[in-house]
Amino acid sequence: MLGAGIAGCTAAAALARRGFQVKVIDRHQFAGCGASGNNQAIIYPKLSSRDEALPLVNLAAIIFASQYYQPFWQQDLGAQSGVLVLPETNKAVADFRLIAERFVNQPDLVKFCSNTELSNIAGIDLQAQLGLYFPNLGWLQPQAICRQLLAQYQIPLITADIQSITYQDGQWHLTQTDKDLPLADNSLTSETLIIANAYDCLALEQTRFLPVTQLRGQITHIPSNSHIGALKTVICGEGYITPQFEGSHSCGATYNKGLFTTQIREADHQTNLQQMAATDKGLTEAIGPQNPNSLSGRANYRCTTRDYLPIVGPVPNMPQLLEDYAALRKDARADISSLGSYRPNLFIHCGMGSRGMGYAPLTAEILAGEIAGEEPIMESELRLAMHPARFLIQDLKKKRI
Ligand SMILES: Cc1cc2nc3c(=O)[nH]c(=O)nc-3n(C[C@H](O)[C@H](O)[C@H](O)COP(=O)(O)OP(=O)(O)OC[C@H]3O[C@@H](n4cnc5c(N)ncnc54)[C@H](O)[C@@H]3O)c2cc1C
Repeated sequence: MLGAGIAGCTAAAALARRGFQVKVIDRHQFAGCGASGNNQAIIYPKLSSRDEALPLVNLAAIIFASQYYQPFWQQDLGAQSGVLVLPETNKAVADFRLIAERFVNQPDLVKFCSNTELSNIAGIDLQAQLGLYFPNLGWLQPQAICRQLLAQYQIPLITADIQSITYQDGQWHLTQTDKDLPLADNSLTSETLIIANAYDCLALEQTRFLPVTQLRGQITHIPSNSHIGALKTVICGEGYITPQFEGSHSCGATYNKGLFTTQIREADHQTNLQQMAATDKGLTEAIGPQNPNSLSGRANYRCTTRDYLPIVGPVPNMPQLLEDYAALRKDARADISSLGSYRPNLFIHCGMGSRGMGYAPLTAEILAGEIAGEEPIMESELRLAMHPARFLIQDLKKKRI
């Protein structure tokens, strides 16, 4: 497994649970030092009244995640505090009503709430008139969860910064950037390799074709006080805020396209505070006046995809797969019986975007199940919506390649 973030650790644990011998390689000495290293991360719901792949995958993922994280919540590595979503626009108000209608028989999943209910659930006065409440979701300590997943299955973490991978004699060989660093002979070889190194998959020749983007984000740690300290649930709108943990609330997050620094920026704290005000004025009142200059936070990078869905499955052999599916260039509906060509025993698990905590448990289970040759756990249309070959096929059909 290359990468010890939530994608790598959930997949490593899912494989170890099935009896595979797994090792994880990361350039950092500890798990959860990349995007999965924030103090608190929330499980974002993204439902819709329409049958589209994104909300349907999200629905399956959040239901799975709310079960998966039970043992972690029982150990206080976060809390199943519920997540309250407030509408950002008038259109969202109309959508919320349709979502509420669609899921009216699933109050454990989502409940439509009026203003008084919202304030009772939140524990602070909110001005919003309506919202959707997801009682079984909550927030997590992603770094602690990554580490616990590896510890639970005694999965070793090898520190190495990987520059390239090659396939030889039935084994994947990983080459370190600093080739002189001493490591045991076989520690960087494996019959099967899963690439879970987020946007850094673009640095590997085999996965460079994937249309993923490195997108910076910053969260702000808001010091707790007697008002915002009463917040009982996660609130999401234009931004999000969590119940307090170790004296502060995580509030985020910014989207800084084309910016590449993990240094904390005052302007981003300002943006996060403005997003809180746009989410609900009641939050701004409870947070109280803040000086962005003196706030702490954390910045890192998401790995986003153009359809906002994760990438999970076998790595296509790009040049060969383009030949396998070449008929699509002439006829987008051409019936092609071949499944396409893939790199031997090479898989990818990335593209988690802003929702890695929600997606990774389910996508890890899908991946590990497929590697183990188990029956599919997801209907094929939704499964294919996350397949690594989808972008090549779409591009062939649209004559983009
Ligand atoms: C500011 C911010 C706030 C966020 N808030 C939330 C939230 O509230 N809820 C949510 O669900 N998601 C949130 N996200 C998104 C979430 O953090 C990601 O979806 C998730 O962490 C991605 O996990 P990952 O394992 O794919 O990537 P990462 O956690 O980044 O892990 C990739 C790992 O690969 C290693 N690696 C990369 N290249 C190499 C190499 N060549 N050699 C060795 N090791 C390598 C890295 O060191 C890293 O440890 C947020 C993201 C940001 C930036």
